[in-house]
Amino acid sequence: MTKQRGLLVILSGPSGVGKGTVRAAVFKQEDCEYVYSVSATTRSARPGEIDGKDYFFVKREEFESLIANQALLEYAEYVGNYYGTPLDNIEKNLAEGYDVFLEIEVQGASKVRQRMPEGIFIFLAPPSLNELETRLVDRGTDSKEKIAQRMKQAKHEIEMMAEYDYVVVNDQVDNAVRKINAIIECEHLRVSRVIDKIQIGMDQYLNNKGE
Ligand code: 5GP
Repeated sequence: MTKQRGLLVILSGPSGVGKGTVRAAVFKQEDCEYVYSVSATTRSARPGEIDGKDYFFVKREEFESLIANQALLEYAEYVGNYYGTPLDNIEKNLAEGYDVFLEIEVQGASKVRQRMPEGIFIFLAPPSLNELETRLVDRGTDSKEKIAQRMKQAKHEIEMMAEYDYVVVNDQVDNAVRKINAIIECEHLRVSRVIDKIQIGMDQYLNNKGE
C-alpha cells in the first residue's frame, strides 16, 4: 500500500523560548522518524555546535549565492545574521513519506506559510515574557544589548501567534515534546490525508470479491 505523504512541520516562536532544546528532545526520542531540516546561517558556531548537524555555517557571500540560486525555501535576516532553509531534500523526503521538521523564527515561518500552506505550523510560546528574559540571560550567549534586541523582537513575534495552527506553551520540555507528538499523530489521521488510501483498499476488496 502506498505510504502517506510526509508532513512539513514548522516549529517557531520567539528566540530563547527553547525551540532548540525542544527540537533536540523531539529528535532524541528512540522511535523518532522525523527528518530535521538543517538550516544555513551566517552566524558563527557556538561552543559544541557541529557544522552540518546544528547548522550549515556559511559566509555571507555563500548565503547570498544560495538566495540568488533560489536554493532556499525561505530565509530571514535576524539580529544581524542570515538564517535560511535549504530546499534540497525537503520535497524528496516529503514524497517518501517522511515528516520534515523545520525549526525557524517567525518571519521565515510566515514565508513558508505562503509557499507551503499545507504545513503544520506550531507556535512555541514562553510561559511569560519575564521567563523568556531569564532564559536568554541564563543561556549566557548574548550581550545585554543583544538580549534587549531579542526581547523587543519577542513582543512582536508573540503577536504573530494568530497565524499558526497550534500553540504549545513551553513550561516543561517533556510536556512540549508530548504535545508536538500528539499534534503530528492527529494530523496524520485527518480524513483528507487517509481517504484515498482507504478507498483504494475498499476497491481492492470489492474487486477480489468480484463485485
Ligand atoms: P540562534 O542564533 O539562536 O541559533 O537562532 C536565532 C533564530 O533563528 C532562532 O529563532 C532560530 O529558530 C531561527 N532560525 C534557525 N534556522 C532558521 C532558518 O533556516 N530560517 C529562519 N527564518 N530562521 C531560522
